[in-house]
Amino acid sequence: MSKPKLFSPGPINVTASTYEAMSAPMIGHRGKDFEELYADIQPKLQTVAKTTQPVYISTSSAWGVMEASIRNLVQKKVLNLCCGAFSDKWYDVAQRCGKNAEKIQAEWGQPIDPELVRAKLAEGGFDTVTLVHNETSTGVMNPLEEIIAVVKSFDDVLIVVDTVSSFSAVSVETEKLGIDCLLAGVQKALALPPGITIFSLSPAAVERTQSTPDRGYYFDFMEFVNNGAKNNTPSTPPITLIYGLQHKLNEILAEGLENRYARHEELNQMVTEWALKYGFEIFSPEGFRSKTLVTIANNLDIDVSLLVKTLREKHNFLINGGYGKVKGSTFRISNMGDETVETITELLDALDDVMPSIIAK
Ligand SMILES: *Cc1c(COP(=O)(O)O)cnc(C)c1O
Repeated sequence: MSKPKLFSPGPINVTASTYEAMSAPMIGHRGKDFEELYADIQPKLQTVAKTTQPVYISTSSAWGVMEASIRNLVQKKVLNLCCGAFSDKWYDVAQRCGKNAEKIQAEWGQPIDPELVRAKLAEGGFDTVTLVHNETSTGVMNPLEEIIAVVKSFDDVLIVVDTVSSFSAVSVETEKLGIDCLLAGVQKALALPPGITIFSLSPAAVERTQSTPDRGYYFDFMEFVNNGAKNNTPSTPPITLIYGLQHKLNEILAEGLENRYARHEELNQMVTEWALKYGFEIFSPEGFRSKTLVTIANNLDIDVSLLVKTLREKHNFLINGGYGKVKGSTFRISNMGDETVETITELLDALDDVMPSIIAK
């Protein structure tokens, strides 16, 4: 049976032209060909990431760099801002790294309240804060500027931001906001196959790293800084994926960032309106909703797994039946990557086709 087209929030659908770009001939990674590839990508990554600082490429999924940010940056104590599966897990990872960690826990579906961050940091002793910009498990988009402004009002506290499911789809002013470590895996908003994560560090983050002991090797930020200065990576990178990244960045810049943001907003609105039309509620409050996926609350009490299964069997589209503890009580539809009004319309028409049989149950 042919594989379904993915409308689940990561990994997402990868286009034929991306696969084609990835079939370019293999090159050695310690030579001029690779340095040229790296140097070509660098300013494009900086443009999309909105920073003049280098952007590094890690051979790992996002968790590699999420864990690395803890290992490299936390010396005293980290505050993990938790509001869903990925942000909650970051607190667990900080503890597993043997670091002092505290968390602020928002209810799933709710954003982080900047005033709670202020009150917690005022207790003192923190040197790092972690934030997931777009919590993919719940469809919450956190108030990035407000939270960072609070963090920046304290001295020597670094802010790490996960933009895995928002990078390139929503504007994030990395340098202007003063984000110390920005990271994004590529299998979500960037529409590449999984396997690499891009990240950028502020000068303050590099300085902090240098005095952190026991950083290991593979995820030592200084290895990325030193190799990056020579247009290279610490260890052998997945060159195939980097060809794919080059292709994607060319496409993104050809589309134009503003157009890309507007397209995601429009498609997101289409999916939201589809859900509201049936009387579903959106899981997250207005003003704090993701622009790259819609997490729909199952207030109609439908059989979500039957919906997912029927849509797949009848139309070969895959949506997601909810993540972790909100599986079944929510379901998720992605509008990340290369979707258009036409392709989202196809999906919503297919959903309209199957919904009567689901509601009748
Ligand atoms: C998917 C996701 C991750 C984890 O990514 P991996 O590629 O599985 O390591 C982290 N954060 C967010 C917001 C995600 O959506």
